[in-house]
Amino acid sequence: MAAVTQYLCTVKFHRMITPTVFELGFDSEPIPSADPAKPSPTEPFHFEAGQYISVIVPGAGPNGRDLRRAYSIASEPEKRPVELCIKVVDGGPGSNYLNRLRAGDTFRGYAPYGDFTYVTPTNRGVCFIATGTGIAPFRSMMLSKEFQLNLPMSALCLLGIRDEEELLYEAEISNREFGAMGGNRFQSKWVPCVSQPKGAWPGFKGRVTDYLRSLGDGYPWRETEYYLCGAGQMIDEVKALLAERGVEKESIHREIYFKQPKPVA
Ligand SMILES: Cc1cc2nc3c(=O)[nH]c(=O)nc-3n(C[C@H](O)[C@H](O)[C@H](O)COP(=O)(O)OP(=O)(O)OC[C@H]3O[C@@H](n4cnc5c(N)ncnc54)[C@H](O)[C@@H]3O)c2cc1C
Repeated sequence: MAAVTQYLCTVKFHRMITPTVFELGFDSEPIPSADPAKPSPTEPFHFEAGQYISVIVPGAGPNGRDLRRAYSIASEPEKRPVELCIKVVDGGPGSNYLNRLRAGDTFRGYAPYGDFTYVTPTNRGVCFIATGTGIAPFRSMMLSKEFQLNLPMSALCLLGIRDEEELLYEAEISNREFGAMGGNRFQSKWVPCVSQPKGAWPGFKGRVTDYLRSLGDGYPWRETEYYLCGAGQMIDEVKALLAERGVEKESIHREIYFKQPKPVA
């Protein structure tokens, strides 16, 4: 994996893709290391699908110190500008800092980080399970050359969202596009799981765990690799459900974005 380096990132675009989620596209150039013993790369950063950037949020910490926030890269490794997909969190310093940036603005970050990368052998299925912007690393994985050249036996992609307005990347990861990637051999399904639809949502109503339970015994539980990303609570619940189905721990890969605070007793 490439060494972690500090980059100066120049915003190429900012666009809202749901009422609360925006995409940020950026180019990057390495900031030379002050330590002559540590040679700096000279190129924009390279990453593997599933990795993330640790963004510096200037002066937002205690006593005006900088903060760091992690963001998974949502675009495939071959594509420039690099894209992030970020939920605006009420009062959150990191997401609101990035949400204020526009084309031409710059920010700094360290990259690439993380080992949540795609390793499924081609003789097994894969199941991607995300809540909200947890879809970002899966978009990068599914669109990557690595994935398309080494397609799994089958693929199921579940996205948990509260209502249909929060649907992400529907056009790219819809049944037709996603299923078309591997021709006849590749069986795939994309299922947005909407827990509280505002209107007459025609798709699955409920949470990702409800959908997984609905699969029953017919699903190849033990022949599948599971990638989970997003809210810690979802990840805990899915892990428990998979354990009930006899899925080995080694087949469960996860990236936790945040843990919900425990309710005060
Ligand atoms: C490896 C990694 C990758 C990540 N990638 C992404 C990403 O691609 N896109 C993204 O939006 N976030 C991502 N996050 C979360 C991100 O790092 C921040 O935690 C988030 O943006 C909130 O930071 P903040 O400073 O705005 O708010 P904070 O004040 O730090 O957070 C306030 C609260 O917001 C909630 N929260 C945090 N993240 C989310 C979220 N994504 N959706 C809903 N509620 C949330 C939590 O309850 C948190 O305690 C990632 C986290 C990790 C660890």
